[in-house]
Order: sequence, then C-alpha cells, then structure tokens
Amino acid sequence: MNTRDINNKFWNEELETMPREELEKNQLEDLKEIVKFAYDNAPYYKRSFDEAGVKPEDIHALADIQKFPFINKTTQRDTQGVGSFLGELCAVPEEDVVFISTSSGSTGVPTMSPFTKKDFDEFQDTESRWFWQMGMRPNDRYVHALNFSLYVGGPDVIGAQNLGALCIWGGTLPSERLLFILKTYQPTIIWTSPSYAWQLGEKAKKAGIDPKKDLSIKKIIVAGELGGSIDATRKAIEDLWGAEVYDFYGLSDIFGACAAQCEYHDGLHIAENHILVETVDIHTGEILPPGEVGELVFTTLRKHARPLIRFKTGDIGYIDNTPCKCGRTHGRIHISGRKDDMFIVSAVNVFPSDIEAVIRELDGVTGEYLIRVFEKDFTCKYSVEIEKNSDNPASDDFVAETVSAALKARIGVKPYKVVVHPDGGLDTRSEHKSKRIIDERKLDYTI
Ligand SMILES: [Zn+2]
Repeated sequence: MNTRDINNKFWNEELETMPREELEKNQLEDLKEIVKFAYDNAPYYKRSFDEAGVKPEDIHALADIQKFPFINKTTQRDTQGVGSFLGELCAVPEEDVVFISTSSGSTGVPTMSPFTKKDFDEFQDTESRWFWQMGMRPNDRYVHALNFSLYVGGPDVIGAQNLGALCIWGGTLPSERLLFILKTYQPTIIWTSPSYAWQLGEKAKKAGIDPKKDLSIKKIIVAGELGGSIDATRKAIEDLWGAEVYDFYGLSDIFGACAAQCEYHDGLHIAENHILVETVDIHTGEILPPGEVGELVFTTLRKHARPLIRFKTGDIGYIDNTPCKCGRTHGRIHISGRKDDMFIVSAVNVFPSDIEAVIRELDGVTGEYLIRVFEKDFTCKYSVEIEKNSDNPASDDFVAETVSAALKARIGVKPYKVVVHPDGGLDTRSEHKSKRIIDERKLDYTI
C-alpha cells in the first residue's frame, strides 16, 4: 500500500524547498568531501591537481572550485581504460561498480559512466522526484519509450516504478506497436523525444486514432532534443495530443536525472544537491554570474564511482537562481543548444533551436525543417529548407520570403536561401530522433 500523500506537490519537500543559504552550505560540505575523495582515489585528479598546484584543503567556499582545472569529454576518452578497465577518473574499485551507461558516441568514442549501488539508488530517487514534480502519481500508467540499450535514460523507468506508477517498458518500439500499446493499455504518461512525440501523434491520426479522444495520454515527457523548451514546439505537441509537455534533461556523463520542468515550464529545475553549476564564457573560459549565457560546467557532488570535477558539458545556457513560483528553491537551467551545433554568421551566434522556434510559430508551414551550414566566399552561411502546408495557397516565393524575414527578425541574420518543399517533401521524419542540421563546412570552426 502506497502511503505517500498524492496531494503533496513535493517528493521531498524539505530538500526541494530548502532555503538557498542552507542548500549552498550543504553543497559546500559535499564539495569538500568529493574533491578530497577524487584526489585520494582517482589517479587523474591526483595528477592534475598537483600540476595545477591546488589541494582539496583549498576549498573554503563554493567559489574556490574556480581554482581547479576543467575537464571535458576528451579527458574522459583519454583516461578510460588507462590503468584499469574503468580508467583514471574512476575513484572506486571495479567490484563496487554495479552499472555502466555509455554515451551514443555521435561525436567520437563512446564514454562510459560508472555507478556504485549508492550512486544508482540516488539517481533513481532523483528521477522519482522529477516524475513527481511533473505530476506522476502511483495511479498513473506510464510508458517509457526511450532506448534501454546502454543509454543512461533507460534506467529512469525504475524511478517511476519506485514512485508506484504502473510501468510499461516500451523502449524504441516501431510506431505501430507503440500505438497498439497506447490504444490497448490506455497509459496516462509517455516519455519520448519531442520530434518523435510529434511524429507519433501524426501517425496516430493517419491510422484513424485521434490522440485527444481515443487515447488517455495526459502528460508527455520529452528529452534528447531541445523541443520541450521551445514554446512553439511544446505548444504544437500539446495541441496535437491534448496533453501537457514537460522538458527533461539528463547527461550520459552524470546520470539520466539532472533537471526537469515544473508546472510553470520556465526553465528546468536542476538537482543542485547533486550538481554544482558554473557558467563560463565559451571563448575565454571566464566565469560568468548567474543569468548570463555561457557553457555550463558541472561538478558532481555525490557520485563516487566517477566524480566529475568542473566538467565542461558542451551545453550552452544559463542558470536562474531566483525563486520559482512553484516554491522549489533549486535553480533553473535554460539551455540554448550544444556548443557543437552553434554556428556563427556575421558575428551572431546562431542555434538551431532559434531557427526551430521561428519555423514552428509560422502559419502555413508544417514545422519540419532542415538547416544547412556552409561556406561561401570564406564566410559561414546557413540555408533553411521547410515544407509548405498542402492547403496553403501562397506561392513558394512568398513563403520563402516570409520565412526569411521572420528569421532575420528573430536571429538578426537572414538565411542565404530558403528552399520550400511540399508537405512530406523533407526526409526528416525519422523514428525517435531526427537529424535536422547538416554542416557542410570544410574548415574547423569548433570553438
Ligand atoms: Zn518551479
């Protein structure tokens, strides 16, 4: 029998509403402990701290973390498998490790993320906290339609089970099978990527199923792409399904439960009891105050198998530590995109998410898009391909001009060209995760 009060909006009220002063005091204690643990047990940190001339005892305030060196994805790749199977960033013997997830390897060799039993249990408790925050209760039926194989989002389903929901381990099933499950078992919550949520809703309609009337989905959790934080994209999915969409953020390097939206959908609350957030300038590495946009740098405060001290995530965004209307005191992160996906046109930083926001707000187009980034006359340019709705009577030239003007107004730089396709003319409707940016540049513009 589940005894938790389903009307309490908090999973762990004391933790979630803790005054910031107290939260930061706890962060400092955990930071001191984890930095010392990393230095004493992970060969990489011993070496790099010694080289930088810093010691765990140098930490007296949270800001003292700024004295310590950064690490990034390359550090993980270069140290895994060195000295031991789990490598030089790992701080526990292999027999203490109960689970490893791995990254997709889309930008290089896949990196492993190891968990001790305690790391894993805390990961799942945090996951339960986010599910509860997004409105899941023990009387919900939940379909977990995320990839289970190797990825860190797979085990998140255990957080829903621990909360008491009835869980259906969907994984990446073909759409027909998933629709069969939605129709037959009438689940109330599903988690998938934003692009797939859209495509699944469209496929349902083509199969004669009205997602609003014939299915019972009330909430859709999305992750893996930025759509859940783009208001126009979230609204389009919500209108299609008659359900509320919540954005969610996990990181294969840490765990699948880093941050999630609350009912106000204004940024994603991050688990500050697990993660210390810094923001640094993407060009200079200079520390930025809360509220300013830069690369997010995370230090894990409680993960012992492989502590990450000042890990540059590659995600660009900012943290807002001001109070949220929901009463939670943990800060909210706002993410603009991956550093790797950002491109610079006429000195303007352009994120694919900005372009998506414009395309999804326009009438008369389907919302599908493809971005090409290329060089012309040694200058970076971008073009956008879109689809015109089949019932839109406007000429292709008029649609192209409208899109171009809207992009110029929002982003500040016009696309080199807008290509208009008929409805269904773009090959971007892949299962589960879509590829919508093609970088044709030959020069290395990596920052
Ligand atoms: Zn909130």
